[in-house]
Amino acid sequence: MNSGTAGASSELDDIVSAMRAALDQARDALNHDDVPVGAVVLHEGRIIAARHNERENHRDPTAHAEVLALRDAASHLGRWRLDDCTLVVTLEPCVMCAGALLNARIGRLVYGAADLKAGATASLYNVCADPRLNHNPPVSHGVLAAESAALLEQFFAARR
Ligand code: ZN
Repeated sequence: MNSGTAGASSELDDIVSAMRAALDQARDALNHDDVPVGAVVLHEGRIIAARHNERENHRDPTAHAEVLALRDAASHLGRWRLDDCTLVVTLEPCVMCAGALLNARIGRLVYGAADLKAGATASLYNVCADPRLNHNPPVSHGVLAAESAALLEQFFAARR
């Protein structure tokens, strides 16, 4: 991402600090032995939802960070349509979460590390850029990707 103007620069600051908040969320997932993935929703430059993966914690296959954050954001704004929001997540979304993002009509997606095994916005599929679907939000990636990948590597290395 480049930052030619003051406006773009402050937007980049917002995205980086949102990713730091998402990384803090990802670390919280470790408290209940969940894969460390965190997500936040930005609205008008403010974080309105911040969640982490709680699949093990809730014994719920759909309790990914992105889905939980979208639900909180929708509840906060009182509407399901989130076309003026940005979802910032530490790891490339899976098929389910990419589908949820489209159903929320998310305004923009930013993610950190690529997920070569399950990623659905570049690695295995490109759900957000499929012209057959009714919504194609812009996607940026690579923000603090090394920190996100290191968290995941440590988590899985401890389990081998
Ligand atoms: Zn997911």
